[in-house]
Amino acid sequence: MKVLLPDSSELELPDGATGLDAARAIGPKLAEQAVLLRSNGTVQDLRLPLEDGQQIQILTTRNADDSDALWVLRHSTAHLLAEAVRRLYPGVKIAIGPPIENGFYYDFEFPEPIREEDLPRIEEEIQRELTEGRSWVRREVQAEEAKRYFSEQGEGYKVELVETAEGPISFYTQGDFTDLCRGPHLQDSKPIKAVKLTGLAGAYWRGDERNTQLTRIYGTAFYSQSDLDSYLERVEEAKRRDHRRLGPQLDLFHFSERSPASPLWHPKGMVLWYELEAIRRRENARRGYLEVKTPIIYDAETFWTSGHFPKYEDLMFKLDVRGRPWAMKSMNCPGHMLLFGSRPRSYKELPLRYAEPTPLHRDEIPGTLHGLLRVRIVTQDDSHIFCTEDQIQDEIAAVVDYARYLYGLFGMSASAELATRPDNKIGTDEQWDRNEAALEAALKLNSIPYTVAPGEGAFYGPKIDLFMDDALGRKWQMGTIQLDSQMPSRFGLTYVGQDNTEHSLYVVHRALYGSFERFIGILIEHFGGDFPFWLAPVQVRILPVGEEHRAPAAEVRDRLGAEGFRVEVDERDETVGKRIRDAEVEKIPRVIVYGDRESTGSLAVRERGGKQDTKSLQALVEEFRALAASSGRVAGGAGPQPAQ
Ligand SMILES: [Zn+2]
Ligand SMILES: [Zn+2]
Repeated sequence: MKVLLPDSSELELPDGATGLDAARAIGPKLAEQAVLLRSNGTVQDLRLPLEDGQQIQILTTRNADDSDALWVLRHSTAHLLAEAVRRLYPGVKIAIGPPIENGFYYDFEFPEPIREEDLPRIEEEIQRELTEGRSWVRREVQAEEAKRYFSEQGEGYKVELVETAEGPISFYTQGDFTDLCRGPHLQDSKPIKAVKLTGLAGAYWRGDERNTQLTRIYGTAFYSQSDLDSYLERVEEAKRRDHRRLGPQLDLFHFSERSPASPLWHPKGMVLWYELEAIRRRENARRGYLEVKTPIIYDAETFWTSGHFPKYEDLMFKLDVRGRPWAMKSMNCPGHMLLFGSRPRSYKELPLRYAEPTPLHRDEIPGTLHGLLRVRIVTQDDSHIFCTEDQIQDEIAAVVDYARYLYGLFGMSASAELATRPDNKIGTDEQWDRNEAALEAALKLNSIPYTVAPGEGAFYGPKIDLFMDDALGRKWQMGTIQLDSQMPSRFGLTYVGQDNTEHSLYVVHRALYGSFERFIGILIEHFGGDFPFWLAPVQVRILPVGEEHRAPAAEVRDRLGAEGFRVEVDERDETVGKRIRDAEVEKIPRVIVYGDRESTGSLAVRERGGKQDTKSLQALVEEFRALAASSGRVAGGAGPQPAQ
C-alpha cells in the first residue's frame, strides 16, 4: 500500500504497516523522535495501522510548539501522574486524566485529603519514573476483560467508564500501571523533559454535583525545561497583569455583591471609557454611521418577533409590570429594526448605518463570569448596517478596515475566523456562495490573517469573528461581523428599489470593541495597567517640594489642564521620594517635581520608569500634544487625521 507524505511524495509500505513503520521506512532518527501521527487534521496513535492512500504527517520531538505534539506529551504525563499517585497513596481511586489547554489534569478520590504542599512529593515521584524511563504498550481488550481488571484493582470509576464506553476499548500500560484510554500516547517517556504540577481543585465525578467530590491535580509538561520556564514566566506575568487585581488597585472599578457581575466604574475608569467612546464617535462620524438611541426595555412580543426569545430567553432579564410581560434587551437589533421600519425606505437611503452604545443586560451563568471579561451588563459599540445584496462586500470590507484601524491604535494585531454555512442553514447554496465569498474577499482585501470554521456560521448567514493578539501573545476574541437577512424579514422590512417595487434587505450586525467592559479588561492586561500617555486616566502629576511651591505648581497644572491634559497636584505632606514612588505604583506616565530651581522656563520632568529631563512648559506642551495625537485625537488643537 501507499501513504501520502506532507511534501506530496508517496511512501510504499507493506499492508498493515503502522505509523511507526512509516517513520522507520523514512529513517531511524525520525522513528526514534516520533511522538504522534496526524492525518487530515486528526491525531492517531503511532502504533495503529495505516490505510492505503492515507495522508500522514509524523510529529516528532522537534515539533515542540505544535499543539497536538504538546497534547500527546501532556496526556502521557497525566498517566505518569496517576501511576505516581497510586504508588504514594495506597487506597486512592483514579477517575479521568485528560490534557487541557496549557496542561493536563487527573481526578482522584484520596483516602485522606491532600494539600498543595503535597504536590512537590508527587512531582518527585514523577521525576523518578522519568529517570527510570517508561514506555507505553497499547492493547485492545473486550469490555468484560476491562471490567474484570478494574474491579480487581478496586477502580470503580474505571469500571463505570468501561460500562458507558462506546467503540473499541484499549489499555495503555507503562511500568506496572495500566489505564483505560483511547490514546494516542508517546512511544516512551524520553521526550518528557519538564513537568510541573500547578495546582489542586475540587471536581465532581462526571461534573455532577450529586456525585462524589474528587481531587483534581493540575499539571503541565514540555519538550524542554526552557519551554516550561518561559511558560511559568508568562503565567506570573499574566497574574501581575490580571485586570481583576489591577482594576481596583488603579482605582478604575470594583464589583459589589449588590449587583453581581456589573462593575461600578470609578472616575479614573470612566476616563478610559470616554477615551474609547471618543474614538468610537469620531470614527463612526468619519465612516458614515448615524448615532441613534433605542429603549432598554421592550414588551415580550418584540423578542418573539426578533427571534431572541426562542433562543436566548434564559439569558434575558424579564419583568412583569402592570400585568404585561417585558424584557430587558440583550441585543440592540430589535430597536434598530423598529427604527428602520418607522417609515418606507428607498434604495437611495442605503446603506444606512445605525450605531448605538447603549448597555445590554444578560443573565450569564455565575460560573462563567470573569471580572470584566464576562459581565451581566454589556455595553457594545454596536451597529446595524442596512444594505442591499450588492452592497454587502463593500460594507463588510469597510467594517474589517475599521476593525484593523481600531486594534492598531492599541498596538494589537487583528486576526479573524470566518464561520461558514451550518447544516441547518436557510437560503440557497448560491446565496451562501456569494455571501461567504463577500466576507472572505473583505478579509483578503484588508490582509487580515484568517482561518475558516466550516459549519460555524449562524443558520441565517456567515460571520467573521475578530481576534486581537495582546502583549503576552494571548489571543482575545473581540468583535463579530454578522451578515443576516432573517431579522429584517421577521420585522417585515423592505426597501423600494429603482424599479419602484419592494425588495428584501440585508443587515450587518457588528461590534468591534465587542463591549466597552470587556475591551477595557483586555486593555488593562495588554498594557499591564501602564497605559500609553493618550489613554492614561492621570497623565501628569505635579509634586510641589515645599508649601511655597504649591501656587506655581497649581499654575502649571492649570496651563496644562487648559490644553486638555489630565493633570493632578499631589500636595500631601509626604517626602518627594515617597510621592514619586506612589506615582510610579499608580503608573502615571509623567511626574513634574516643582522646587526652588523650577520655573515655567525650566521644569524637572520624570518619565515613568525613571528617565529624567529638564524642559520648558512650552516644550512640554508640544511633547504632550504629539503623544496625545497617537490615538488620532489631539488635545488642545487640530491635529493630523488618521489615514482613510
Ligand atoms: Zn491516556
Ligand atoms: Zn444585532
